[in-house]
Amino acid sequence: LNRRLAEFGTTIFAEMSALALSTGAINLGQGFPDTDGPEEVREAAVRALRDGLGNQYPPGPGVPELRTAIAAHQQRRYGLSFDPDTEVLVTAGATEAIAASLLALVEPGDEVIAFEPYYDSYAACIAMAGGRRVPVTLRPDDGRFRLDLDELRDAVTDRTRLLLINTPHNPTGTVLTRAELAAIAELAVERDLLVVTDEVYEHLVFDDAEHVPLATFPGMRERTVTIGSAGKTFSFTGWKVGWVTAAPELVTAVRSAKQYLTYVSAGPFQYAVAEALALPESYFTAFRDDMLAKRNLLAAGLEEAGFRVFRPSGTYFVTTDIRPLGETDGFAFCRGLPERAGVVAIPNAVFYDHREEGAPFVRFAFCKRTGVLEEAVKRLRTAL
Ligand code: PMP
Ligand code: GLN
Repeated sequence: LNRRLAEFGTTIFAEMSALALSTGAINLGQGFPDTDGPEEVREAAVRALRDGLGNQYPPGPGVPELRTAIAAHQQRRYGLSFDPDTEVLVTAGATEAIAASLLALVEPGDEVIAFEPYYDSYAACIAMAGGRRVPVTLRPDDGRFRLDLDELRDAVTDRTRLLLINTPHNPTGTVLTRAELAAIAELAVERDLLVVTDEVYEHLVFDDAEHVPLATFPGMRERTVTIGSAGKTFSFTGWKVGWVTAAPELVTAVRSAKQYLTYVSAGPFQYAVAEALALPESYFTAFRDDMLAKRNLLAAGLEEAGFRVFRPSGTYFVTTDIRPLGETDGFAFCRGLPERAGVVAIPNAVFYDHREEGAPFVRFAFCKRTGVLEEAVKRLRTAL
């Protein structure tokens, strides 16, 4: 393994899912739903397969039906107009969109600012691109992990090429407010930075929080690469259909990298996701309401089990603090939890450069059936 990748080892998600399998514990670690997405969308994939739609290499930018559906979704929800031919690119999940964006836009030695804790592929992809990651730590403040805008401003140097933003934020569940996003946008314009924004949880926003795409702010449309994914919104994480929307030059750049990573990705699923994006609003509302009920169930149960809970405004993760349980090391806690309580969780420390900042935080996923969450909560309350 080369030096760029040596520090990364095996992703925590694979490690923890393997631990769940070997111990038979309930897996609230890796974020994937235990119920598949809508039947009619699955049927659409079957139809595409049968009708020979996408069984051979689809077009490099993605099938036109899906690109049109992505553009229509951005227009309908956010009033953002993207030309399906030049400003939309279909990728093999958001994971490839992140990799291709960083490989395309970062020069060796460039600094990339990302929030800490960060989704683990960010660090590895910045490294593969030869960039230097500059973490800005989100810290607990009034029940929420908050971005310190002064720290963000101070992190920008003459070497900064790009801000890598994630809202709703995995793992903390923070949804950046309109004011925070406006400040980020102003900074990007003032310092002439590119922005890659991972908005895969755009439909999972709760309570008073609102998802506002960074691309909607003044001066951002032309400098922002926005990333979305069908995995999260439609509960098909195994299909690996993601996308990028951006100005033509940026999409062309990302596509230059993408074409040598996967070239294209599974055709029939692209046709099915095109239909999914056109589902009526009631689908998106029901999906969110279902996840909200699950959030409430898990958050209350974790509190009763003795955790300090950071009630997330978005995503399908709850971050907790284990110190009220008399624990301080999230790694040790998560490694022991399957034996001790029959539940798997993720130590947030893996998402930090400053591991000590993340040491006491542990993430639980609530994208699981109600009965599974209830059983997990029961086990935790009994064992801890
Ligand atoms: N970004 C974030 C913040 C995620 O949480 C995930 C999935 N867990 C991804 C990207 C990857 O998405 P996909 O499965 O579409 O590759
Ligand atoms: N995004 C999922 C999570 O945060 C995991 C995806 C993966 O395993 N790469 O849990």
